Amino acid sequence: MIEVQNLNVTFGQGRTELHAVRDVSFDIARGESFGLVGESGSGKSTVLRAISRLSGNWTGTVRIDGAELGRRRDRTTARQMQMVFQDPYGSLHPRHTINDILMEPLEIHRMDRRGARVLQALDEVGLGIEMRFRYPYQISGGQRQRIAIARALILEPEILLLDEPTSALDVSVQAEILNLLKTLQRERGLTYLMVSHNLAVVAHMCERVAVMNRGQFIEELTTAQLRSGTPTQDYTRQLLSAS
Ligand code: ATP
Ligand code: MG
Repeated sequence: MIEVQNLNVTFGQGRTELHAVRDVSFDIARGESFGLVGESGSGKSTVLRAISRLSGNWTGTVRIDGAELGRRRDRTTARQMQMVFQDPYGSLHPRHTINDILMEPLEIHRMDRRGARVLQALDEVGLGIEMRFRYPYQISGGQRQRIAIARALILEPEILLLDEPTSALDVSVQAEILNLLKTLQRERGLTYLMVSHNLAVVAHMCERVAVMNRGQFIEELTTAQLRSGTPTQDYTRQLLSAS
Protein backbone atom coordinates (compact mmCIF):
# COMPACT_ATOMS: atom_id res chain seq x y z
CA MET A 1 0.00 0.00 0.00
CA ILE A 2 2.68 2.53 1.05
CA GLU A 3 6.25 2.12 -0.17
CA VAL A 4 8.84 4.61 1.00
CA GLN A 5 12.27 4.40 -0.63
CA ASN A 6 15.43 6.24 0.35
CA LEU A 7 13.71 9.13 2.02
CA ASN A 8 16.17 11.87 3.00
CA VAL A 9 15.32 15.21 4.58
CA THR A 10 17.75 18.06 5.23
CA PHE A 11 17.28 21.41 6.93
CA GLY A 12 19.59 24.41 6.49
CA GLN A 13 22.71 24.63 4.36
CA GLY A 14 26.47 24.44 4.62
CA ARG A 15 27.87 24.23 8.13
CA THR A 16 24.43 24.41 9.73
CA GLU A 17 22.99 21.66 7.55
CA LEU A 18 21.06 19.04 9.48
CA HIS A 19 20.43 15.68 7.86
CA ALA A 20 17.22 14.99 9.81
CA VAL A 21 16.19 11.82 7.96
CA ARG A 22 18.75 9.50 6.36
CA ASP A 23 17.93 6.88 3.75
CA VAL A 24 14.75 5.67 5.34
CA SER A 25 12.88 2.89 3.47
CA PHE A 26 9.87 0.86 4.53
CA ASP A 27 6.66 -0.74 3.27
CA ILE A 28 3.25 -0.82 4.92
CA ALA A 29 0.58 -3.28 3.77
CA ARG A 30 -3.05 -2.23 3.30
CA GLY A 31 -4.88 -2.28 6.61
CA GLU A 32 -1.66 -2.55 8.58
CA SER A 33 -0.55 -0.34 11.44
CA PHE A 34 3.12 0.62 11.39
CA GLY A 35 4.73 2.45 14.30
CA LEU A 36 7.72 4.79 14.50
CA VAL A 37 9.48 5.09 17.83
CA GLY A 38 12.63 6.88 18.92
CA GLU A 39 13.74 9.60 21.23
CA SER A 40 12.91 13.27 20.81
CA GLY A 41 14.58 14.79 17.76
CA SER A 42 15.23 11.44 16.04
CA GLY A 43 13.23 12.51 12.96
CA LYS A 44 9.84 10.80 13.41
CA SER A 45 7.64 13.81 12.69
CA THR A 46 9.92 14.81 9.83
CA VAL A 47 9.27 11.43 8.16
CA LEU A 48 5.50 11.94 8.46
CA ARG A 49 5.63 15.52 7.20
CA ALA A 50 7.74 14.53 4.19
CA ILE A 51 5.39 11.67 3.30
CA SER A 52 2.32 13.87 3.60
CA ARG A 53 4.06 16.56 1.52
CA LEU A 54 3.79 19.17 4.23
CA SER A 55 7.45 20.05 3.84
CA GLY A 56 9.41 20.21 0.62
CA ASN A 57 13.09 19.62 1.41
CA TRP A 58 13.15 15.86 0.89
CA THR A 59 14.39 13.39 -1.72
CA GLY A 60 13.28 9.81 -2.30
CA THR A 61 10.09 8.22 -3.48
CA VAL A 62 6.75 7.47 -1.89
CA ARG A 63 4.35 5.14 -3.71
CA ILE A 64 0.75 4.49 -2.83
CA ASP A 65 -0.56 1.32 -4.45
CA GLY A 66 2.35 1.51 -6.88
CA ALA A 67 1.68 5.11 -8.00
CA GLU A 68 4.42 7.60 -7.14
CA LEU A 69 3.30 10.68 -5.21
CA GLY A 70 4.01 14.06 -6.73
CA ARG A 71 6.23 16.63 -5.06
CA ARG A 72 3.45 18.76 -3.71
CA ARG A 73 0.44 18.12 -1.59
CA ASP A 74 -2.47 18.05 -4.00
CA ARG A 75 -6.11 17.00 -4.00
CA THR A 76 -5.33 13.37 -4.68
CA THR A 77 -2.85 13.18 -1.81
CA ALA A 78 -5.37 14.82 0.52
CA ARG A 79 -8.00 12.28 -0.45
CA GLN A 80 -5.59 9.39 0.03
CA MET A 81 -3.98 10.40 3.26
CA GLN A 82 -4.54 12.72 6.16
CA MET A 83 -2.53 13.57 9.21
CA VAL A 84 -3.57 13.85 12.87
CA PHE A 85 -1.31 15.90 15.13
CA GLN A 86 -0.41 15.76 18.80
CA ASP A 87 -2.07 19.03 19.70
CA PRO A 88 -5.56 19.23 18.24
CA TYR A 89 -5.61 22.98 18.96
CA GLY A 90 -2.98 23.41 16.29
CA SER A 91 -5.12 21.84 13.58
CA LEU A 92 -8.52 23.31 14.54
CA HIS A 93 -9.16 26.94 13.68
CA PRO A 94 -10.02 28.70 16.99
CA ARG A 95 -12.59 31.07 15.48
CA HIS A 96 -14.46 28.46 13.46
CA THR A 97 -17.29 26.37 14.82
CA ILE A 98 -16.95 22.59 14.79
CA ASN A 99 -19.45 22.59 11.93
CA ASP A 100 -17.25 24.93 9.84
CA ILE A 101 -14.14 22.94 10.72
CA LEU A 102 -15.74 19.74 9.43
CA MET A 103 -17.38 21.45 6.43
CA GLU A 104 -14.20 23.05 5.11
CA PRO A 105 -12.57 19.98 3.50
CA LEU A 106 -15.95 18.96 2.05
CA GLU A 107 -16.32 22.39 0.45
CA ILE A 108 -12.77 22.44 -0.88
CA HIS A 109 -13.34 19.04 -2.47
CA ARG A 110 -16.87 19.93 -3.64
CA MET A 111 -18.38 16.91 -1.94
CA ASP A 112 -22.13 16.43 -2.00
CA ARG A 113 -24.41 15.77 1.04
CA ARG A 114 -22.15 17.94 3.24
CA GLY A 115 -24.55 18.41 6.14
CA ALA A 116 -25.25 14.69 6.33
CA ARG A 117 -21.55 13.88 6.18
CA VAL A 118 -20.83 16.23 9.10
CA LEU A 119 -23.50 14.56 11.23
CA GLN A 120 -22.20 11.12 10.30
CA ALA A 121 -18.61 12.13 11.08
CA LEU A 122 -19.61 13.37 14.55
CA ASP A 123 -21.47 10.14 15.19
CA GLU A 124 -18.52 8.02 14.10
CA VAL A 125 -16.20 9.66 16.60
CA GLY A 126 -18.78 9.33 19.36
CA LEU A 127 -19.87 12.99 19.64
CA GLY A 128 -23.40 14.39 19.72
CA ILE A 129 -24.67 16.64 16.94
CA GLU A 130 -25.10 19.54 19.41
CA MET A 131 -21.29 19.88 19.23
CA ARG A 132 -21.67 21.45 15.80
CA PHE A 133 -22.24 24.96 17.08
CA ARG A 134 -19.44 25.07 19.60
CA TYR A 135 -15.94 26.45 19.16
CA PRO A 136 -12.77 24.41 19.84
CA TYR A 137 -12.22 26.18 23.20
CA GLN A 138 -15.71 25.12 24.32
CA ILE A 139 -14.95 21.40 24.22
CA SER A 140 -12.56 19.17 26.16
CA GLY A 141 -9.11 18.08 24.96
CA GLY A 142 -10.36 14.56 24.25
CA GLN A 143 -13.34 15.92 22.31
CA ARG A 144 -11.01 18.19 20.33
CA GLN A 145 -8.91 15.20 19.34
CA ARG A 146 -12.11 13.39 18.29
CA ILE A 147 -12.95 16.40 16.07
CA ALA A 148 -9.43 16.34 14.59
CA ILE A 149 -9.92 12.64 13.79
CA ALA A 150 -13.38 13.32 12.31
CA ARG A 151 -11.90 16.05 10.12
CA ALA A 152 -9.06 13.80 8.99
CA LEU A 153 -11.54 11.06 8.04
CA ILE A 154 -14.25 13.18 6.46
CA LEU A 155 -12.82 12.86 2.94
CA GLU A 156 -12.61 9.10 3.43
CA PRO A 157 -8.84 8.72 3.07
CA GLU A 158 -7.24 5.27 3.06
CA ILE A 159 -4.25 6.24 5.14
CA LEU A 160 -3.87 8.14 8.40
CA LEU A 161 -0.53 9.53 9.52
CA LEU A 162 -0.80 9.88 13.29
CA ASP A 163 1.81 12.00 15.07
CA GLU A 164 1.56 11.38 18.82
CA PRO A 165 -2.24 11.56 18.61
CA THR A 166 -2.80 10.94 22.31
CA SER A 167 0.24 12.24 24.13
CA ALA A 168 -1.38 15.59 25.00
CA LEU A 169 -4.26 13.76 26.74
CA ASP A 170 -4.61 12.27 30.19
CA VAL A 171 -4.31 8.51 30.51
CA SER A 172 -7.99 7.54 30.58
CA VAL A 173 -8.77 9.77 27.58
CA GLN A 174 -5.72 8.34 25.79
CA ALA A 175 -7.20 4.86 26.04
CA GLU A 176 -10.56 6.07 24.68
CA ILE A 177 -8.97 7.75 21.69
CA LEU A 178 -6.72 4.76 20.95
CA ASN A 179 -9.74 2.45 21.06
CA LEU A 180 -11.62 4.80 18.76
CA LEU A 181 -8.70 4.76 16.30
CA LYS A 182 -8.60 0.95 16.46
CA THR A 183 -12.34 0.64 15.81
CA LEU A 184 -12.21 3.08 12.89
CA GLN A 185 -9.29 1.20 11.42
CA ARG A 186 -11.12 -2.11 11.61
CA GLU A 187 -14.36 -0.73 10.21
CA ARG A 188 -12.78 1.18 7.35
CA GLY A 189 -9.77 -0.98 6.60
CA LEU A 190 -7.50 2.04 7.17
CA THR A 191 -3.73 1.93 6.99
CA TYR A 192 -1.92 3.68 9.84
CA LEU A 193 1.55 5.12 10.16
CA MET A 194 1.80 6.16 13.78
CA VAL A 195 4.47 8.01 15.72
CA SER A 196 4.68 7.70 19.47
CA HIS A 197 7.35 8.00 22.09
CA ASN A 198 5.28 5.61 24.20
CA LEU A 199 6.29 2.03 23.44
CA ALA A 200 3.22 0.63 25.21
CA VAL A 201 0.95 2.68 22.92
CA VAL A 202 2.79 1.49 19.83
CA ALA A 203 2.74 -2.12 21.02
CA HIS A 204 -1.03 -1.84 21.57
CA MET A 205 -1.77 -0.19 18.23
CA CYS A 206 0.75 -1.50 15.71
CA GLU A 207 1.76 -4.81 14.15
CA ARG A 208 5.25 -3.64 13.26
CA VAL A 209 7.53 -0.96 14.62
CA ALA A 210 10.62 0.82 13.32
CA VAL A 211 13.11 2.26 15.77
CA MET A 212 14.66 5.59 14.74
CA ASN A 213 17.85 7.14 16.02
CA ARG A 214 19.48 10.28 14.61
CA GLY A 215 17.42 10.21 11.45
CA GLN A 216 17.99 6.54 10.64
CA PHE A 217 15.98 3.37 10.96
CA ILE A 218 18.14 1.17 13.10
CA GLU A 219 15.78 -1.77 13.52
CA GLU A 220 12.38 -3.05 12.42
CA LEU A 221 10.51 -5.30 14.84
CA THR A 222 7.18 -7.01 15.08
CA THR A 223 5.10 -5.99 18.06
CA ALA A 224 5.58 -9.51 19.43
CA GLN A 225 9.37 -9.02 19.38
CA LEU A 226 8.94 -5.65 21.06
CA ARG A 227 6.77 -7.17 23.78
CA SER A 228 9.02 -10.15 24.38
CA GLY A 229 11.99 -7.79 24.60
CA THR A 230 14.07 -9.50 21.92
CA PRO A 231 15.41 -6.67 19.77
CA THR A 232 18.78 -7.18 18.08
CA GLN A 233 20.14 -3.65 18.55
CA ASP A 234 21.59 -2.29 21.79
CA TYR A 235 19.90 1.04 21.18
CA THR A 236 16.45 -0.58 21.07
CA ARG A 237 17.19 -2.45 24.31
CA GLN A 238 18.11 0.84 25.96
CA LEU A 239 14.92 2.43 24.68
CA LEU A 240 12.89 -0.49 26.02
CA SER A 241 14.52 -0.43 29.42
CA ALA A 242 14.08 3.35 29.67
CA SER A 243 10.33 3.18 29.09
P1 ATP B 1 9.78 14.59 19.06
O1 ATP B 1 9.62 13.20 19.63
O2 ATP B 1 10.36 15.54 20.04
O3 ATP B 1 8.53 15.09 18.39
P2 ATP B 1 10.85 13.90 16.43
O4 ATP B 1 11.49 12.55 16.38
O5 ATP B 1 9.48 14.03 15.88
O6 ATP B 1 10.92 14.45 17.93
P3 ATP B 1 11.56 15.84 14.41
O7 ATP B 1 10.54 16.85 14.73
O8 ATP B 1 11.32 14.99 13.22
O9 ATP B 1 11.83 14.90 15.67
O10 ATP B 1 12.95 16.59 14.26
C1 ATP B 1 14.14 15.95 13.81
C2 ATP B 1 15.26 16.98 13.74
O11 ATP B 1 14.98 17.91 12.69
C3 ATP B 1 15.39 17.81 15.01
O12 ATP B 1 16.76 18.02 15.25
C4 ATP B 1 14.68 19.11 14.66
O13 ATP B 1 15.21 20.20 15.39
C5 ATP B 1 14.94 19.24 13.19
N1 ATP B 1 13.88 19.96 12.48
C6 ATP B 1 12.57 19.57 12.35
N2 ATP B 1 11.86 20.44 11.63
C7 ATP B 1 12.72 21.43 11.28
C8 ATP B 1 12.60 22.64 10.51
N3 ATP B 1 11.44 22.98 9.92
N4 ATP B 1 13.69 23.40 10.36
C9 ATP B 1 14.89 23.05 10.90
N5 ATP B 1 15.08 21.93 11.64
C10 ATP B 1 14.02 21.13 11.81
MG1 MG C 1 7.69 14.79 16.68
